Amino acid sequence: SPVIVWFREDLRLGDHPALHDAAATGRPVICVWVLDEKTGRAPGGAARWFLAGALESLRDDLAHHDVPLAILSGDAQTLITDLARRCKAGDVFWNDRVEPDQAAQDDRIEKALEQDDIAVHRSMAMLLRRPGVLKTNGGKHYQVFGAYWRAAGSAGDPPDPLPAPRKLQGARLPHLDANIILDPASLRPSHPDWAGGLAETWEPTEDAATERLAHFARHELSDYDGRRDDLAAGGTSRLSADLRHGLISPRQVWQATQSTRARASGFLSELGWREFSYDTLARTPDLASSNLRDRFDHVKWRRAPAELKAWQQGRTGVPIVDAAMRQLWQTGWMHNRARMIVASFLVKHLLIDWRAGEQWFWDTLVDADPANNPVNWQWVAGSGIEATPFFRIFNPVLQAGKFDRSGEYVRTFVPEIAKLPDRALQTPWEQPDDVLSRAGITLDKTYPRPIVDLKGGRERALEAYKNTEPA
Ligand code: FAD
Repeated sequence: SPVIVWFREDLRLGDHPALHDAAATGRPVICVWVLDEKTGRAPGGAARWFLAGALESLRDDLAHHDVPLAILSGDAQTLITDLARRCKAGDVFWNDRVEPDQAAQDDRIEKALEQDDIAVHRSMAMLLRRPGVLKTNGGKHYQVFGAYWRAAGSAGDPPDPLPAPRKLQGARLPHLDANIILDPASLRPSHPDWAGGLAETWEPTEDAATERLAHFARHELSDYDGRRDDLAAGGTSRLSADLRHGLISPRQVWQATQSTRARASGFLSELGWREFSYDTLARTPDLASSNLRDRFDHVKWRRAPAELKAWQQGRTGVPIVDAAMRQLWQTGWMHNRARMIVASFLVKHLLIDWRAGEQWFWDTLVDADPANNPVNWQWVAGSGIEATPFFRIFNPVLQAGKFDRSGEYVRTFVPEIAKLPDRALQTPWEQPDDVLSRAGITLDKTYPRPIVDLKGGRERALEAYKNTEPA
Protein backbone atom coordinates (compact mmCIF):
# COMPACT_ATOMS: atom_id res chain seq x y z
CA SER A 1 0.00 0.00 0.00
CA PRO A 2 1.18 3.57 -0.59
CA VAL A 3 2.32 5.97 2.09
CA ILE A 4 1.25 9.60 2.39
CA VAL A 5 3.52 12.56 3.14
CA TRP A 6 1.59 15.60 4.34
CA PHE A 7 3.60 18.76 3.57
CA ARG A 8 2.91 21.81 5.69
CA GLU A 9 5.42 24.54 6.60
CA ASP A 10 8.21 22.50 5.05
CA LEU A 11 7.97 23.03 1.28
CA ARG A 12 11.26 21.37 0.36
CA LEU A 13 12.85 17.98 -0.34
CA GLY A 14 16.09 18.50 1.63
CA ASP A 15 16.16 17.95 5.41
CA HIS A 16 12.58 16.72 5.35
CA PRO A 17 12.35 13.90 7.91
CA ALA A 18 8.79 12.94 6.89
CA LEU A 19 9.70 12.56 3.22
CA HIS A 20 13.00 10.92 4.09
CA ASP A 21 11.34 8.30 6.30
CA ALA A 22 8.55 7.72 3.78
CA ALA A 23 11.13 7.11 1.04
CA ALA A 24 12.97 4.67 3.32
CA THR A 25 9.87 2.42 3.44
CA GLY A 26 10.48 1.68 -0.26
CA ARG A 27 6.73 1.98 -0.84
CA PRO A 28 5.04 4.28 -3.36
CA VAL A 29 4.49 7.84 -2.09
CA ILE A 30 1.62 10.32 -2.42
CA CYS A 31 2.19 13.89 -1.26
CA VAL A 32 -0.43 16.36 -0.14
CA TRP A 33 -0.65 19.97 1.06
CA VAL A 34 -3.81 21.51 2.52
CA LEU A 35 -4.93 25.11 2.91
CA ASP A 36 -7.14 24.96 6.00
CA GLU A 37 -8.02 28.57 6.72
CA LYS A 38 -10.09 27.72 9.78
CA THR A 39 -7.26 26.20 11.80
CA GLY A 40 -4.53 28.55 12.98
CA ARG A 41 -4.15 31.91 11.31
CA ALA A 42 -5.09 32.16 7.61
CA PRO A 43 -2.10 33.44 5.60
CA GLY A 44 -2.08 37.14 4.70
CA GLY A 45 -1.82 38.54 1.16
CA ALA A 46 1.96 38.65 0.68
CA ALA A 47 2.46 35.24 2.30
CA ARG A 48 -0.15 33.78 -0.07
CA TRP A 49 1.76 35.19 -3.01
CA PHE A 50 4.95 33.52 -1.72
CA LEU A 51 3.12 30.26 -1.02
CA ALA A 52 1.80 30.10 -4.58
CA GLY A 53 5.32 30.03 -6.01
CA ALA A 54 6.65 27.70 -3.34
CA LEU A 55 3.87 25.16 -3.97
CA GLU A 56 4.29 25.25 -7.74
CA SER A 57 8.00 24.74 -7.34
CA LEU A 58 7.57 21.86 -4.85
CA ARG A 59 5.07 20.22 -7.22
CA ASP A 60 7.63 20.43 -10.05
CA ASP A 61 10.44 19.08 -7.87
CA LEU A 62 8.31 16.09 -6.80
CA ALA A 63 7.16 15.54 -10.39
CA HIS A 64 10.82 14.93 -11.34
CA HIS A 65 10.55 11.85 -9.13
CA ASP A 66 7.11 11.00 -10.59
CA VAL A 67 5.59 11.69 -7.20
CA PRO A 68 2.26 13.57 -7.27
CA LEU A 69 1.44 16.49 -4.96
CA ALA A 70 -2.27 17.02 -4.27
CA ILE A 71 -2.85 20.67 -3.36
CA LEU A 72 -6.18 20.88 -1.54
CA SER A 73 -8.34 23.38 0.29
CA GLY A 74 -10.76 22.69 3.13
CA ASP A 75 -10.92 21.05 6.54
CA ALA A 76 -7.59 19.24 6.93
CA GLN A 77 -8.97 16.47 9.15
CA THR A 78 -11.65 15.51 6.62
CA LEU A 79 -9.30 15.79 3.65
CA ILE A 80 -6.37 13.85 5.10
CA THR A 81 -8.40 11.02 6.62
CA ASP A 82 -10.44 10.74 3.44
CA LEU A 83 -7.37 10.67 1.21
CA ALA A 84 -5.69 8.05 3.41
CA ARG A 85 -8.74 5.78 3.33
CA ARG A 86 -9.34 6.17 -0.37
CA CYS A 87 -5.81 5.36 -1.43
CA LYS A 88 -5.58 2.63 1.23
CA ALA A 89 -2.47 4.15 2.71
CA GLY A 90 -0.84 2.18 5.51
CA ASP A 91 1.15 5.11 6.90
CA VAL A 92 1.03 8.89 7.02
CA PHE A 93 4.18 10.96 7.62
CA TRP A 94 4.41 14.61 8.61
CA ASN A 95 6.68 17.13 10.30
CA ASP A 96 4.96 18.66 13.32
CA ARG A 97 3.54 22.16 13.51
CA VAL A 98 3.80 24.32 16.61
CA GLU A 99 0.96 26.85 16.42
CA PRO A 100 -1.40 25.59 19.17
CA ASP A 101 -4.59 25.22 17.06
CA GLN A 102 -2.68 23.41 14.36
CA ALA A 103 -0.82 21.23 16.85
CA ALA A 104 -4.17 20.25 18.43
CA GLN A 105 -5.54 19.45 14.99
CA ASP A 106 -2.52 17.22 14.33
CA ASP A 107 -3.30 15.26 17.49
CA ARG A 108 -6.94 14.83 16.44
CA ILE A 109 -5.96 13.66 12.97
CA GLU A 110 -3.44 11.22 14.39
CA LYS A 111 -6.17 9.67 16.55
CA ALA A 112 -8.64 9.48 13.68
CA LEU A 113 -6.09 7.79 11.41
CA GLU A 114 -5.03 5.33 14.07
CA GLN A 115 -8.64 4.32 14.54
CA ASP A 116 -8.51 3.29 10.88
CA ASP A 117 -5.30 1.32 11.55
CA ILE A 118 -3.21 3.85 9.67
CA ALA A 119 0.11 4.52 11.40
CA VAL A 120 1.19 8.14 11.86
CA HIS A 121 4.88 9.10 11.95
CA ARG A 122 5.68 12.56 13.29
CA SER A 123 8.99 14.46 13.25
CA MET A 124 10.24 17.95 14.07
CA ALA A 125 11.87 19.87 11.25
CA MET A 126 10.82 23.50 11.54
CA LEU A 127 12.95 24.21 14.60
CA LEU A 128 16.34 23.19 15.91
CA ARG A 129 14.61 21.82 19.01
CA ARG A 130 11.07 20.93 19.96
CA PRO A 131 9.42 23.73 21.92
CA GLY A 132 9.25 23.14 25.66
CA VAL A 133 12.31 20.87 25.73
CA LEU A 134 14.55 23.52 27.28
CA LYS A 135 13.46 24.38 30.80
CA THR A 136 14.98 26.20 33.76
CA ASN A 137 16.39 24.22 36.69
CA GLY A 138 13.05 24.77 38.39
CA GLY A 139 11.29 23.10 35.43
CA LYS A 140 9.82 26.36 34.12
CA HIS A 141 9.78 27.86 30.64
CA TYR A 142 12.39 30.49 29.98
CA GLN A 143 11.10 34.06 30.12
CA VAL A 144 14.36 35.68 29.10
CA PHE A 145 16.07 35.11 25.77
CA GLY A 146 19.68 35.26 27.03
CA ALA A 147 19.12 32.45 29.52
CA TYR A 148 17.18 30.41 26.96
CA TRP A 149 19.91 30.68 24.36
CA ARG A 150 22.67 29.83 26.85
CA ALA A 151 20.71 26.71 27.80
CA ALA A 152 20.38 25.86 24.11
CA GLY A 153 24.16 26.21 23.76
CA SER A 154 24.78 23.83 26.67
CA ALA A 155 22.33 21.29 25.24
CA GLY A 156 24.73 20.71 22.32
CA ASP A 157 24.49 21.06 18.56
CA PRO A 158 21.30 20.19 16.71
CA PRO A 159 21.40 17.03 14.56
CA ASP A 160 22.80 17.37 11.04
CA PRO A 161 20.26 17.98 8.28
CA LEU A 162 19.06 15.00 6.25
CA PRO A 163 19.82 14.77 2.54
CA ALA A 164 16.95 14.92 0.03
CA PRO A 165 15.84 11.37 -0.78
CA ARG A 166 17.65 10.08 -3.84
CA LYS A 167 15.03 7.56 -4.82
CA LEU A 168 11.32 8.11 -4.56
CA GLN A 169 8.58 6.10 -6.12
CA GLY A 170 5.23 7.76 -6.78
CA ALA A 171 1.74 6.28 -6.49
CA ARG A 172 -1.31 7.37 -8.48
CA LEU A 173 -3.58 9.92 -6.88
CA PRO A 174 -7.17 8.76 -6.45
CA HIS A 175 -9.84 10.83 -8.20
CA LEU A 176 -10.30 14.10 -6.28
CA ASP A 177 -13.41 16.27 -6.39
CA ALA A 178 -12.82 19.52 -8.23
CA ASN A 179 -14.18 21.52 -5.29
CA ILE A 180 -11.34 20.45 -2.99
CA ILE A 181 -8.51 21.01 -5.46
CA LEU A 182 -6.66 24.29 -5.06
CA ASP A 183 -4.83 25.82 -7.98
CA PRO A 184 -1.84 27.54 -6.28
CA ALA A 185 -2.03 30.34 -8.86
CA SER A 186 -5.35 31.35 -7.27
CA LEU A 187 -3.39 32.41 -4.16
CA ARG A 188 -1.89 35.28 -6.16
CA PRO A 189 -3.69 38.63 -6.27
CA SER A 190 -5.31 39.43 -9.59
CA HIS A 191 -7.69 42.41 -9.27
CA PRO A 192 -5.61 44.47 -8.74
CA ASP A 193 -2.34 42.60 -9.05
CA TRP A 194 -0.26 44.51 -6.50
CA ALA A 195 2.48 41.90 -6.37
CA GLY A 196 4.81 43.17 -9.12
CA GLY A 197 7.44 44.32 -6.62
CA LEU A 198 7.28 40.97 -4.83
CA ALA A 199 7.90 39.09 -8.09
CA GLU A 200 10.95 41.30 -8.77
CA THR A 201 12.33 40.64 -5.30
CA TRP A 202 11.70 36.98 -4.50
CA GLU A 203 12.13 33.61 -6.14
CA PRO A 204 10.21 31.23 -3.88
CA THR A 205 11.93 27.95 -4.74
CA GLU A 206 14.02 25.51 -2.73
CA ASP A 207 16.90 25.91 -5.20
CA ALA A 208 16.91 29.70 -4.84
CA ALA A 209 16.76 29.44 -1.04
CA THR A 210 19.67 26.99 -1.03
CA GLU A 211 21.70 29.34 -3.22
CA ARG A 212 20.84 32.36 -1.08
CA LEU A 213 22.01 30.51 2.02
CA ALA A 214 25.26 29.40 0.36
CA HIS A 215 25.95 32.92 -0.91
CA PHE A 216 25.25 34.45 2.49
CA ALA A 217 27.43 31.92 4.34
CA ARG A 218 30.31 32.38 1.90
CA HIS A 219 30.30 36.14 1.35
CA GLU A 220 28.29 37.96 3.99
CA LEU A 221 28.17 36.04 7.22
CA SER A 222 31.65 37.03 8.39
CA ASP A 223 30.66 40.71 8.31
CA TYR A 224 27.11 40.20 9.60
CA ASP A 225 27.64 41.96 12.92
CA GLY A 226 29.21 44.97 11.22
CA ARG A 227 26.54 45.40 8.53
CA ARG A 228 23.34 43.97 9.94
CA ASP A 229 21.98 47.32 11.12
CA ASP A 230 22.84 49.31 8.01
CA LEU A 231 19.46 49.82 6.38
CA ALA A 232 20.73 50.05 2.82
CA ALA A 233 23.60 47.55 2.96
CA GLY A 234 21.69 44.29 2.48
CA GLY A 235 23.96 42.68 5.09
CA THR A 236 21.40 40.22 6.44
CA SER A 237 20.53 36.81 5.01
CA ARG A 238 17.00 37.57 3.74
CA LEU A 239 16.13 33.97 4.50
CA SER A 240 13.11 34.78 6.67
CA ALA A 241 10.42 33.90 4.11
CA ASP A 242 12.27 30.70 3.16
CA LEU A 243 12.44 29.72 6.82
CA ARG A 244 8.82 30.68 7.42
CA HIS A 245 7.49 28.52 4.60
CA GLY A 246 10.15 25.87 5.00
CA LEU A 247 12.00 26.19 1.67
CA ILE A 248 15.04 25.80 3.85
CA SER A 249 15.35 24.31 7.34
CA PRO A 250 16.97 25.87 10.41
CA ARG A 251 19.31 22.87 10.64
CA GLN A 252 20.51 23.57 7.09
CA VAL A 253 21.11 27.18 8.06
CA TRP A 254 22.92 26.10 11.21
CA GLN A 255 25.15 23.71 9.31
CA ALA A 256 26.02 26.26 6.62
CA THR A 257 27.40 28.60 9.27
CA GLN A 258 29.65 26.11 11.02
CA SER A 259 32.86 26.80 9.11
CA THR A 260 32.82 30.40 10.40
CA ARG A 261 31.16 29.58 13.68
CA ALA A 262 33.27 31.87 15.82
CA ARG A 263 32.07 34.84 13.84
CA ALA A 264 28.54 33.53 13.31
CA SER A 265 27.33 33.83 16.86
CA GLY A 266 25.45 37.12 16.27
CA PHE A 267 23.63 35.61 13.30
CA LEU A 268 22.92 32.33 15.08
CA SER A 269 21.40 34.16 18.01
CA GLU A 270 18.84 35.64 15.58
CA LEU A 271 17.96 32.08 14.67
CA GLY A 272 17.75 31.60 18.43
CA TRP A 273 15.14 34.37 18.64
CA ARG A 274 13.10 32.40 16.14
CA GLU A 275 13.35 29.31 18.38
CA PHE A 276 12.49 31.34 21.47
CA SER A 277 9.49 32.91 19.72
CA TYR A 278 8.13 29.48 18.75
CA ASP A 279 8.78 28.21 22.26
CA THR A 280 6.54 31.07 23.43
CA LEU A 281 3.89 30.48 20.74
CA ALA A 282 3.60 26.79 21.64
CA ARG A 283 2.13 27.69 25.03
CA THR A 284 0.43 30.99 24.12
CA PRO A 285 -2.52 30.47 21.77
CA ASP A 286 -3.53 34.16 21.94
CA LEU A 287 -0.05 35.54 21.29
CA ALA A 288 -1.26 37.88 18.53
CA SER A 289 -4.34 39.08 20.36
CA SER A 290 -3.44 39.48 24.06
CA ASN A 291 -0.76 41.34 25.95
CA LEU A 292 1.66 38.92 27.56
CA ARG A 293 1.87 41.37 30.47
CA ASP A 294 -1.65 42.16 31.53
CA ARG A 295 -0.62 45.54 32.93
CA PHE A 296 -0.76 46.64 29.30
CA ASP A 297 -4.50 45.96 29.20
CA HIS A 298 -4.87 49.37 30.87
CA VAL A 299 -3.05 51.39 28.20
CA LYS A 300 -5.50 53.73 26.50
CA TRP A 301 -4.62 53.27 22.85
CA ARG A 302 -5.79 55.97 20.47
CA ARG A 303 -8.32 55.24 17.77
CA ALA A 304 -6.79 57.19 14.91
CA PRO A 305 -7.72 55.59 11.58
CA ALA A 306 -6.29 58.41 9.43
CA GLU A 307 -2.92 58.18 11.18
CA LEU A 308 -2.91 54.40 10.95
CA LYS A 309 -3.56 54.71 7.23
CA ALA A 310 -0.78 57.29 6.78
CA TRP A 311 1.58 54.87 8.55
CA GLN A 312 0.46 51.95 6.38
CA GLN A 313 0.92 53.96 3.19
CA GLY A 314 4.27 55.48 4.10
CA ARG A 315 2.88 59.04 4.26
CA THR A 316 3.69 60.01 7.86
CA GLY A 317 6.03 62.84 6.91
CA VAL A 318 8.94 61.18 8.74
CA PRO A 319 11.20 59.96 5.91
CA ILE A 320 12.78 56.95 7.63
CA VAL A 321 9.35 55.62 8.67
CA ASP A 322 7.91 56.22 5.21
CA ALA A 323 10.87 54.57 3.47
CA ALA A 324 10.46 51.47 5.60
CA MET A 325 6.69 51.24 5.15
CA ARG A 326 7.09 51.60 1.39
CA GLN A 327 9.84 48.97 1.32
CA LEU A 328 7.32 46.67 3.01
CA TRP A 329 4.54 47.44 0.55
CA GLN A 330 6.74 47.24 -2.52
CA THR A 331 8.84 44.20 -1.66
CA GLY A 332 6.94 42.30 1.04
CA TRP A 333 9.93 42.58 3.38
CA MET A 334 11.44 45.14 5.70
CA HIS A 335 14.85 45.39 7.33
CA ASN A 336 14.84 44.36 11.03
CA ARG A 337 16.10 47.73 12.27
CA ALA A 338 13.40 49.44 10.19
CA ARG A 339 10.75 47.08 11.65
CA MET A 340 11.77 48.27 15.10
CA ILE A 341 11.67 51.93 14.07
CA VAL A 342 8.22 51.81 12.46
CA ALA A 343 6.75 49.65 15.22
CA SER A 344 8.01 52.03 17.90
CA PHE A 345 6.66 54.99 15.91
CA LEU A 346 3.19 53.42 15.66
CA VAL A 347 2.93 52.16 19.20
CA LYS A 348 4.63 55.02 21.00
CA HIS A 349 4.59 58.23 18.93
CA LEU A 350 1.11 57.56 17.55
CA LEU A 351 -0.05 55.54 20.58
CA ILE A 352 -1.90 53.09 18.33
CA ASP A 353 -2.45 49.54 19.58
CA TRP A 354 0.39 47.19 18.58
CA ARG A 355 -2.22 44.70 17.31
CA ALA A 356 -3.11 47.04 14.42
CA GLY A 357 0.52 47.11 13.33
CA GLU A 358 0.93 43.38 13.82
CA GLN A 359 -2.08 42.76 11.57
CA TRP A 360 -0.76 45.05 8.84
CA PHE A 361 2.59 43.21 8.92
CA TRP A 362 0.70 39.91 8.82
CA ASP A 363 -0.95 40.95 5.58
CA THR A 364 2.04 42.52 3.88
CA LEU A 365 5.16 40.51 4.84
CA VAL A 366 6.19 37.52 2.76
CA ASP A 367 7.74 36.18 5.98
CA ALA A 368 4.66 36.94 8.16
CA ASP A 369 5.14 34.49 10.97
CA PRO A 370 2.70 33.43 13.71
CA ALA A 371 5.51 33.39 16.29
CA ASN A 372 8.07 35.99 15.21
CA ASN A 373 5.57 38.69 14.29
CA PRO A 374 3.56 38.95 17.52
CA VAL A 375 6.60 38.27 19.73
CA ASN A 376 8.51 41.13 18.14
CA TRP A 377 5.53 43.51 18.19
CA GLN A 378 5.01 42.76 21.86
CA TRP A 379 8.73 43.23 22.43
CA VAL A 380 8.64 46.72 20.90
CA ALA A 381 5.36 47.64 22.62
CA GLY A 382 6.76 46.52 25.96
CA SER A 383 3.95 44.05 26.60
CA GLY A 384 6.04 40.96 25.77
CA ILE A 385 7.74 38.49 28.07
CA GLU A 386 11.11 40.05 27.50
CA ALA A 387 10.52 43.52 26.23
CA THR A 388 12.05 46.93 25.82
CA PRO A 389 11.45 49.14 28.87
CA PHE A 390 8.52 51.51 28.36
CA PHE A 391 10.66 54.63 28.38
CA ARG A 392 12.78 53.42 25.49
CA ILE A 393 11.23 55.31 22.61
CA PHE A 394 13.19 55.34 19.39
CA ASN A 395 13.75 58.79 18.00
CA PRO A 396 13.31 58.07 14.28
CA VAL A 397 15.53 60.97 13.23
CA LEU A 398 18.44 59.81 15.41
CA GLN A 399 17.91 56.23 14.22
CA ALA A 400 18.06 57.44 10.62
CA GLY A 401 21.28 59.36 11.36
CA LYS A 402 22.90 56.18 12.66
CA PHE A 403 21.55 53.53 10.33
CA ASP A 404 20.89 55.41 7.08
CA ARG A 405 23.88 57.67 7.25
CA SER A 406 24.23 58.14 3.50
CA GLY A 407 20.47 58.53 3.04
CA GLU A 408 20.48 55.75 0.44
CA TYR A 409 17.58 53.90 2.06
CA VAL A 410 15.32 56.96 2.18
CA ARG A 411 16.30 58.05 -1.33
CA THR A 412 15.45 54.59 -2.70
CA PHE A 413 11.97 54.41 -1.24
CA VAL A 414 10.98 58.09 -0.92
CA PRO A 415 12.26 59.39 -4.26
CA GLU A 416 10.23 62.61 -4.11
CA ILE A 417 12.65 64.00 -1.50
CA ALA A 418 15.82 62.41 -2.93
CA LYS A 419 17.26 65.75 -4.02
CA LEU A 420 17.49 67.09 -0.49
CA PRO A 421 21.09 67.31 0.71
CA ASP A 422 22.13 64.68 3.27
CA ARG A 423 21.87 67.00 6.26
CA ALA A 424 18.24 67.89 5.37
CA LEU A 425 17.00 64.52 4.11
CA GLN A 426 15.69 63.09 7.36
CA THR A 427 13.92 66.29 8.52
CA PRO A 428 12.28 68.04 5.56
CA TRP A 429 9.84 69.87 7.86
CA GLU A 430 12.68 71.71 9.58
CA GLN A 431 14.17 73.06 6.36
CA PRO A 432 13.93 76.65 5.12
CA ASP A 433 11.94 77.28 1.94
CA ASP A 434 14.98 77.79 -0.28
CA VAL A 435 16.43 74.36 0.62
CA LEU A 436 13.08 72.76 -0.09
CA SER A 437 12.48 74.58 -3.35
CA ARG A 438 15.97 73.76 -4.65
CA ALA A 439 15.06 70.10 -4.10
CA GLY A 440 11.69 70.57 -5.84
CA ILE A 441 9.65 70.05 -2.67
CA THR A 442 6.53 71.84 -1.50
CA LEU A 443 5.54 70.57 1.93
CA ASP A 444 2.02 69.14 2.09
CA LYS A 445 2.03 68.81 -1.69
CA THR A 446 5.13 66.88 -2.71
CA TYR A 447 5.62 65.38 0.71
CA PRO A 448 3.57 65.63 3.95
CA ARG A 449 4.51 67.38 7.17
CA PRO A 450 4.89 64.93 10.11
CA ILE A 451 1.52 63.67 11.34
CA VAL A 452 2.81 63.88 14.91
CA ASP A 453 5.16 66.23 16.71
CA LEU A 454 7.98 63.89 17.69
CA LYS A 455 8.58 65.49 21.07
CA GLY A 456 4.89 65.77 21.91
CA GLY A 457 4.21 62.18 20.81
CA ARG A 458 7.02 60.94 23.00
CA GLU A 459 5.67 62.73 26.04
CA ARG A 460 2.14 61.48 25.40
CA ALA A 461 3.45 57.91 25.22
CA LEU A 462 5.43 58.23 28.44
CA GLU A 463 2.30 59.46 30.19
CA ALA A 464 0.10 56.69 28.77
CA TYR A 465 2.64 53.99 29.56
CA LYS A 466 3.21 55.08 33.16
CA ASN A 467 0.80 52.54 34.61
CA THR A 468 2.53 49.63 32.93
CA GLU A 469 5.48 49.75 35.32
CA PRO A 470 5.41 47.48 38.37
CA ALA A 471 4.68 49.51 41.50
P1 FAD B 1 18.68 37.76 9.47
O1 FAD B 1 19.21 38.90 10.26
O2 FAD B 1 19.53 37.23 8.39
O3 FAD B 1 18.31 36.63 10.52
C1 FAD B 1 18.25 35.23 10.19
C2 FAD B 1 16.93 34.63 10.59
O4 FAD B 1 16.75 34.70 12.00
C3 FAD B 1 15.73 35.35 10.01
O5 FAD B 1 15.49 34.91 8.70
C4 FAD B 1 14.63 34.97 10.99
O6 FAD B 1 14.11 33.69 10.72
C5 FAD B 1 15.38 34.92 12.31
N1 FAD B 1 15.26 36.21 13.02
C6 FAD B 1 16.00 37.32 12.85
N2 FAD B 1 15.63 38.29 13.71
C7 FAD B 1 14.63 37.76 14.45
C8 FAD B 1 13.82 38.26 15.51
N3 FAD B 1 13.98 39.50 16.00
N4 FAD B 1 12.86 37.46 16.01
C9 FAD B 1 12.67 36.21 15.55
N5 FAD B 1 13.42 35.67 14.55
C10 FAD B 1 14.37 36.44 14.00
N6 FAD B 1 10.54 37.87 11.42
C11 FAD B 1 9.85 36.96 10.71
O7 FAD B 1 10.42 35.97 10.27
N7 FAD B 1 8.51 37.10 10.50
C12 FAD B 1 7.80 38.16 10.99
O8 FAD B 1 6.59 38.23 10.79
C13 FAD B 1 8.52 39.16 11.71
N8 FAD B 1 7.89 40.26 12.19
C14 FAD B 1 8.61 41.21 12.90
C15 FAD B 1 7.95 42.33 13.41
C16 FAD B 1 8.66 43.31 14.11
C17 FAD B 1 7.93 44.51 14.68
C18 FAD B 1 10.05 43.17 14.30
C19 FAD B 1 10.83 44.21 15.05
C20 FAD B 1 10.71 42.06 13.81
C21 FAD B 1 10.01 41.06 13.11
N9 FAD B 1 10.66 39.91 12.61
C22 FAD B 1 9.93 38.97 11.92
C23 FAD B 1 12.08 39.63 12.93
C24 FAD B 1 13.12 40.14 11.92
O9 FAD B 1 12.89 41.50 11.63
C25 FAD B 1 13.13 39.35 10.62
O10 FAD B 1 13.20 37.98 10.89
C26 FAD B 1 14.34 39.73 9.77
O11 FAD B 1 14.34 41.11 9.47
C27 FAD B 1 14.34 38.92 8.49
O12 FAD B 1 15.40 39.27 7.68
P2 FAD B 1 16.64 38.29 7.45
O13 FAD B 1 16.13 36.94 7.04
O14 FAD B 1 17.57 38.98 6.52
O15 FAD B 1 17.24 38.22 8.93
